[in-house]
Amino acid sequence: MSEWGGQQHQGSRKRKRRSNKDEEQPLEPPRLPEPSESKAQRVLYVACEGESTEPDYLNYLNKRFGDGSYGVPQRFMIHPVKKGNGYTPSRAVAAVRDKAVEGCETWALFDRDDHHDIPQALKEAAEDSTEVCYSHPSFDLWLLLHFQQLSGRQGKSSDNVHEKLRKAHPAFRRFDKPGGGKGLDESRRRALEGKVGAAIGHAKGLVTQCEHGSCKANQRVTKPVDRDDPGNPDYLPQSTRKWAARSGHALDCEVLKRDPSTDVWRLLESLGITADAD
Ligand SMILES: [Zn+2]
Repeated sequence: MSEWGGQQHQGSRKRKRRSNKDEEQPLEPPRLPEPSESKAQRVLYVACEGESTEPDYLNYLNKRFGDGSYGVPQRFMIHPVKKGNGYTPSRAVAAVRDKAVEGCETWALFDRDDHHDIPQALKEAAEDSTEVCYSHPSFDLWLLLHFQQLSGRQGKSSDNVHEKLRKAHPAFRRFDKPGGGKGLDESRRRALEGKVGAAIGHAKGLVTQCEHGSCKANQRVTKPVDRDDPGNPDYLPQSTRKWAARSGHALDCEVLKRDPSTDVWRLLESLGITADAD
């Protein structure tokens, strides 16, 4: 396993020492924690293959659900790991491994697109228990599923997904078009609100509709990996097939043939996000 950068973060875990000047000042009465602060915050590092859409979406999750809103059982903070021009899938797995604080959960989001290193990315993710959210053809399918279901093979191209997304809501009318970009601005975030339950349902439906025939969303594994206990069987290196089947696909369902599919719902379910309608 590579280094986790624990050293550089060691200081951030320690309480800052007060200066002598501070110690001479009268102590303030202790502040009682707000109810939402009484539970430890869950911290996740999530590598994004893309440079804008995925990080924007993760920041949206932090803002909308991270404080425990909508029945989320534990406060959380996602640290998106990204870089300009994005990562290849295997680079995304390596990047989150290098950037995450020791003991924190690591996830990687990557797409089918035209990548050749997906088997390598899955293998490396399985070896160090980095959770994978694979999307075929792309993460943008997850956005579309907020508005509608999708069926039929998409191949490596996201053109059809983008076309449907542009028609699904006015905020996405210029998505991936000149002047429209692929980021999630305020209007696009608002367009997603109230629809997360539908998106999860549609994405789970794609597992069950998988051409393999034996894949079922209710076979998924959502239990987080306990990185504070390296002896935990969940933490030990997994076979690539077993790791890639955590989304409910059969052990022998080839990842590259899961078309269309997206595992992003697993991240939300893991966080306890099930719906955001009042
Ligand atoms: Zn399958």
